[in-house]
Amino acid sequence: MHIAPVGLSKFCFLFSLTFCGLLLLLLPTLKPPAHQLDLPQPRPQIRVAQKDLSHHTRPPLLSVHAGETVLAKELSRSSADKEEYTNTAVIRNDEREGDSNQQNTEPLIGVKVGDGLSGSKSHDLLELKDIFIAVKTTRKYHKSRLELLIQTWVSKAKEQTYMFTDGEDKDLEKRTGANIINTNCSAAHTRQALCCKMSVEYDKFIESQKKWFCHVDDDNYVILPSLLLLLSPYHHSQDVYLGRPSLDHPIEAAEKVKSDGSVSVKFWFATGGAGFCISRGLALKMSPWASLGNFISTAEKIRLPDDCTIGYIIEALLEVTLTHTPLFHSHLENLQKLPTDSVLEQVTLSYGGFENRRNVISIVGGFSLAEDPTRFKTVHCLLYPNTDWCPKLKDHHKN
Ligand code: UDP
Ligand code: MN
Repeated sequence: MHIAPVGLSKFCFLFSLTFCGLLLLLLPTLKPPAHQLDLPQPRPQIRVAQKDLSHHTRPPLLSVHAGETVLAKELSRSSADKEEYTNTAVIRNDEREGDSNQQNTEPLIGVKVGDGLSGSKSHDLLELKDIFIAVKTTRKYHKSRLELLIQTWVSKAKEQTYMFTDGEDKDLEKRTGANIINTNCSAAHTRQALCCKMSVEYDKFIESQKKWFCHVDDDNYVILPSLLLLLSPYHHSQDVYLGRPSLDHPIEAAEKVKSDGSVSVKFWFATGGAGFCISRGLALKMSPWASLGNFISTAEKIRLPDDCTIGYIIEALLEVTLTHTPLFHSHLENLQKLPTDSVLEQVTLSYGGFENRRNVISIVGGFSLAEDPTRFKTVHCLLYPNTDWCPKLKDHHKN
């Protein structure tokens, strides 16, 4: 068959045009999938509803970047009463309204102030009552540490906060109505004693049916509204382990649970002194190594403290990654360096170093350093100024 040269080039031109068109159409599907982090990804489009909050002026925007949650700088707090923060609830609207494919690309969590709860499904709410807060303490610190917590943040989360101690204190229980659990663990500051307490904390959480387990020490202040904002982008059925490592590298331990100890494993752990949180879904998976005394034998096998053992079970045995967050604080860090205007946005605070150099957060409020050496009362009164023992705000317009 004879084809004229003009016809041939026309044919070639048309053919290459069609080919290029096809290639363009196929390009998106040929692209390799974006790198997936194995960190739990926050769910999109969360609306935080404030119950009866018509005058609420706080715009708490959270931005979540690859597992690191940072409260937006511009988060301003109104001078109005903050008591209502404890009523903060979070509405998830992802499955009903959102596009599930956007899950990892929609980092902003907007909080619609004044949103009513009407029309939302109750199971979509994250409320403070869904969080189990365990405070580790010891008999000798009931007076010096625990009473301060009961007077401050624990009073705003009384029902779900449990204090795990090692000695009876009926007087404290009667006076404050706090949930104090005598673990009957040894009062020594040994690995075994501390692991014994963590083991009881874990079992009580599982029993509680709550959605989140958060552990803190008795020298931590928990900023409850920030805690709720931190957890609300995640679902309790996801594998979530949130906290702050005390080291800048993972620790290494001989693998003595899955093997004979001839190989070592590297894993991150969240330091217990700053507090950490675990979703219920993940906590249930920890059960073979954590429930009913198994936590103590796991810790014994690797010969590491309670918080390291938690990290070992989660990262090394379950292969779930710790989500590092800078919002938890222990007195291992220099707390004075925490910017004053960001203090109320943190999830936990601490204090230390009374003996030699004081290590406390720098915040100015109703109490002097002598009146409030830990700064916890000052923080509490900034969060909840209507508390009866807080200094009354002076009304400069009067007289
Ligand atoms: N703790 C305990 N038994 C003790 C001493 C301390 O359970 O014999 C608890 C204490 O209540 C706190 C945590 O362990 O919740 C850490 O103790 P501390 O702050 O004294 O020491 P750190 O390790 O932070 O320097
Ligand atoms: Mn401490």
